[in-house]
Amino acid sequence: MQHILADRMEGMKASEIRELLKLTEQPGMISFAGGLPDSALFPLADIAKARDAVLSRQAKEALQYSVTEGYAPLRDWIADRMNSKHGTAMDREHVLITNGSQQGLDLSGKLFLNRGDVVLCESPTYLGALNALRAYEPRFVEVDCDEEGMIIEQLRKQLETHPVKMIYVIPNFQNPTGRSWSAERRKQFMACAAEYDAVILEDDPYGELWFQAAERPSLLSMDTRGQVIHLGSFSKVYCPGYRIGWLTASTLWMEKYVLAKQSSDLHSSSISQREIHAYLTNNDLDRHIKTLRDVYRKRRDAMLQAMREHLSEEASYYEPSGGLFLWVELPEGVNARALLRECLDSGVAFVPGEAFYPGGGHANTLRLNYSVSSESDIWTGIERLATALRQYKSF
Ligand code: PMP
Repeated sequence: MQHILADRMEGMKASEIRELLKLTEQPGMISFAGGLPDSALFPLADIAKARDAVLSRQAKEALQYSVTEGYAPLRDWIADRMNSKHGTAMDREHVLITNGSQQGLDLSGKLFLNRGDVVLCESPTYLGALNALRAYEPRFVEVDCDEEGMIIEQLRKQLETHPVKMIYVIPNFQNPTGRSWSAERRKQFMACAAEYDAVILEDDPYGELWFQAAERPSLLSMDTRGQVIHLGSFSKVYCPGYRIGWLTASTLWMEKYVLAKQSSDLHSSSISQREIHAYLTNNDLDRHIKTLRDVYRKRRDAMLQAMREHLSEEASYYEPSGGLFLWVELPEGVNARALLRECLDSGVAFVPGEAFYPGGGHANTLRLNYSVSSESDIWTGIERLATALRQYKSF
């Protein structure tokens, strides 16, 4: 009965890579393929206390249906934090709690996209966003980036060529490249985008995971037209299993988002929202984030050193100053997908870069994650990768 599936399912295919990466569960495998925070760093004792506090004092409310917008004290906490980080003046009415920022992406597609509408995005970009938005059958137009972010001349050209509805960007420590836009480029981007009636999705799950210098001004902080929808998440700075994120938007958009979310899932988990709020009021999230930064910075350093030692001749790579990923470009002609097969045999995994480009191509790129492996595993894994690459090239 395949023929009764909706046309949109055509665009949603299980990827061959995902199937291959199931092999990463084998013992002894060093996987740089995921994008997970390290579960060894979850603050388990404090989480247990937060859970006990909620269950002993608010069990009935925490286990009951609740409002679509989200738990008001958590929305207040988020509005305060957004105001202090972005210089905004928002209150809870601007904040919608979502099931991770992934739901923010899906709801944004639901709100804004008709079939064939144009979405501009960085080239490459987060695969999960492409997949979430694909359900609404838009047309993706890639805009190239350099070291400083999206190339403004190209952005302008695309905005002039197409009636663009949405621009999807990850200015901080992007997935997959690890790149962070310069302050100047952010300014230029906002000046250019403000001339057009397109919504800007600023996806920011990694902004707080900086290693060198604090975050640069967000697009939201420069928004004068209510154009920016900002997506935030507790996944990378706390725990992804709660599936709690948020989006902020002007109250006009917010009304529509609430309707869209209501029809999807009524509301996000009441108990998760209250537990996170209990944690946030009784603990110092910033101290926890500092620990994460320290650990991930050391792992990033280990990966860069190992790359320098083992792969400096064959690979060029972008040095991330935060986040979870290292983006690698291999010589033209090397196919990262074929290399992955070799690597899986040698006990190391990564994600080939091609899937992060809506239009495909760039078969010689790959993404490495450094947040879940120990420094010594990172050294071993990069050494295995280098050996596999030499074997691959000798065929
Ligand atoms: N956006 C980006 C750029 C991501 O990398 C991820 C997760 N890997 C998400 C959104 C979704 O995160 P979550 O739903 O857990 O908040």
